[in-house]
Amino acid sequence: MDDDDATIRLRPPAARPAAPPPPLSRRRLLGLWIGLGVALVGLGTGTAVWWWKRAAAPAPLAEAPPVRPIAPPPPPPEGPPSLNLAEIVTHRAGTSTALRWSVNPLVWVLDFPSLELQGQGMNRAAALLEKARTPRDRVLNDVELAAAIAADRRTASTWYFGHNYRASELARMFEFAARDGVQLNPQELWVQEQVELARRVDRSRDAAILTVPALGPQVDGNLRMSILMHELGHGQFYTLPFFAAHVMRVWDTGFSQSERAAVRSFLAAEGYDTAQEEVMANEGMAYLLYTPDRRFFDPARDLGWSDAQAERLRGLLRAGAPEEP
Ligand SMILES: [Zn+2]
Repeated sequence: MDDDDATIRLRPPAARPAAPPPPLSRRRLLGLWIGLGVALVGLGTGTAVWWWKRAAAPAPLAEAPPVRPIAPPPPPPEGPPSLNLAEIVTHRAGTSTALRWSVNPLVWVLDFPSLELQGQGMNRAAALLEKARTPRDRVLNDVELAAAIAADRRTASTWYFGHNYRASELARMFEFAARDGVQLNPQELWVQEQVELARRVDRSRDAAILTVPALGPQVDGNLRMSILMHELGHGQFYTLPFFAAHVMRVWDTGFSQSERAAVRSFLAAEGYDTAQEEVMANEGMAYLLYTPDRRFFDPARDLGWSDAQAERLRGLLRAGAPEEP
């Protein structure tokens, strides 16, 4: 026997054929899918973060659209000239002229060449704002206005010798006239222009619009001065709130009831609407403090007061009054 025979030849092990990969179990498949999903989610998240950072980063300065400069509002228009008391008194208006008072430029004075033109410019406003027997909620037409003046036994020239209103009150009159289709005359249209100008010159505050007539058969120098001073007193009342408050307080607590009644009946005879408490107090103040011409106002004749009684109330009113007029 051959050694070789004796030798059990061990045949080298045949290369075992590669075992086929075991079939993927369902569990492994699921794991793979989950892994793939996680990877995709991660990729997506990363992309989103990148996009977010990109969006959050300041944009590079691109071509900016041209900046259009914002125009500042136009400056308010110039008002009419400011004059002091003496200059207004000696002013001679050839045509209706607007002036302002230099002591208080919020006070406008419309200087009319005659009582007649003043009446044409202002009577319709007086009817709306302060006359006793005329409506407060609409303006009168020419026929109604003439009838109201005749009922007071006055003329269009002498219904009042001077006028005083707030610019806002006159503006309301012009609104009513437009609303009701009431035709305005040339003097009223001129007044309307002045009121609109006053409201543009000082947009934040309400101007006082006063009027005064030129010298004429019924108006001498003293009377013009007296009318102007009286109206300037109203101008202070309208434009100085502390003064107006003081006047109202004196009217309520400084005047006795019978003193208020005396003022009220004097003003009723002048045609004022006595239901308007502010008109009563404002007129009482202007007559007592600022109407020196006794042809216009005399406490003894008009109120039945002694000079001492008038002086007591003047003292109370003066205590809160401005220095001028
Ligand atoms: Zn008055």
